[in-house]
Amino acid sequence: MRFAPSPTGMFHVGGARSALQNWIYAKQQGGVFVLRIEDTDAARNKPEWTEGILSALDWIGIARGSYEGPYFQSQNAGEHRAAAARLYESGRAYYCDCTREAVQARSGSQYAGYDSFCRDRGLGPGEGRALRFRTPDEGATVVVDLIRGEPTFENKLIEDFVIARGDGSPVFLLANVVDDMTMGITHVIRAEEHLPNTPKQQLLWDALGVKPPVWAHVPVVVNEKRQKLSKRRDKVALEAYRDEGYLADAMRNYLMLLGWAPSNDREIVPWSVIEEEFRLAEVNPSPAFFDEKKLRAFNGEYIRALPVAEFVAACQPWLTGTGTIPPPPWQPEEFDADAFAAVAPLAQTRIALLSEIVPNVDFLFLASPLVDEAAWAKAMKEGAGELLDAATAAFEALESWDAETLKSTLEAVGTERGLKLGKTQAPVRVAVTGRSVGLPLFESMEVLGRERTLARLRAARVRLP
Ligand code: GLU
Repeated sequence: MRFAPSPTGMFHVGGARSALQNWIYAKQQGGVFVLRIEDTDAARNKPEWTEGILSALDWIGIARGSYEGPYFQSQNAGEHRAAAARLYESGRAYYCDCTREAVQARSGSQYAGYDSFCRDRGLGPGEGRALRFRTPDEGATVVVDLIRGEPTFENKLIEDFVIARGDGSPVFLLANVVDDMTMGITHVIRAEEHLPNTPKQQLLWDALGVKPPVWAHVPVVVNEKRQKLSKRRDKVALEAYRDEGYLADAMRNYLMLLGWAPSNDREIVPWSVIEEEFRLAEVNPSPAFFDEKKLRAFNGEYIRALPVAEFVAACQPWLTGTGTIPPPPWQPEEFDADAFAAVAPLAQTRIALLSEIVPNVDFLFLASPLVDEAAWAKAMKEGAGELLDAATAAFEALESWDAETLKSTLEAVGTERGLKLGKTQAPVRVAVTGRSVGLPLFESMEVLGRERTLARLRAARVRLP
């Protein structure tokens, strides 16, 4: 098995899905997973994309050192050229000096395929001459595909395609085949987008005298409008999900559900169940909808299922702003690990993404809260000043500063004014945390402490008439 990404951009979630499927299939078959970086498109490759692929794979559970590679396609360039030469020498390929314009002029159409004009002209190699494969005129190429059955392609409909450019450099189609051959690859699991390449590639395998692999073209991943996920329009980078605070376990569970499901209508299952139950042949060939809302809900469930200590550890990058994650709005010295640990269980049940931890706890670490002005305007209506005065006085008089006492105290302040607790809480919450929603108020006030809470209530009062 191999996973063969091209380092031409951020690592795509569809690529991560193919990588996981390859990984599991190799494990199930007792095979070897090989990582091959297809870096022959020099104009579009960048070394940082390769590093991005390695670290994204690592994150998703395909750890560096646990597979063979990475190999680099560019290192096998000699083999690619040798294969092109063999195909030419054996008469399976021929040189062609037709320009695109000439082909179009002959056919009268700008869409026509190549018309085999140079097939029997006997041209030798030369500057600007492309090498084309001589496709058979008869018969059909039957692709054995574990997901799609046996798609069959009439050979006469396959044009004599280019295998090496005018400068002699072999194209992707050939390089990819030669690498798979050299590495002894028996199964190719890859994106559906490559299916049109497959009959051509299989003809190359045949012409080079090696048994072709078994293929599995996994379904294209689409957005809610049924459009193929594209990096220009959609959020496709695995790293973007990681940096928003998706857990790797939730992500890989979700990715495996794109076109497949575990038994008994289960969706959220341990990775060991997926490794055991996944069957490539059960993958649905139709497009798979990448449903971010569902992924988010999954992530929330995974977050809630974490032991608290693991949740606390998982939040660290957002609390301290490491790596590619933006720094939090507080200074490092303002962060208080004990205060965070005290509210962590309350936050754990309320967030779906780890990044959401920041707005939930920032009031604890900032000298004064970040005020959501819309929430302020809504909560600080007429009477809010008087209410805050009464609440502050009642809190000042307390001997103990715990959530339960704070609650009953505020409740009493409200009752005297004929207000339900929700209404009484609203201005206090905005004064203390700056927001209208967040962690339970009284626990928040307990952790924030008497002095800081009272100071915030007084500061809010000053802003009011
Ligand atoms: N390098 C190709 C890509 O990233 C993969 C080709 C293959 O898996 O055969 O789309």
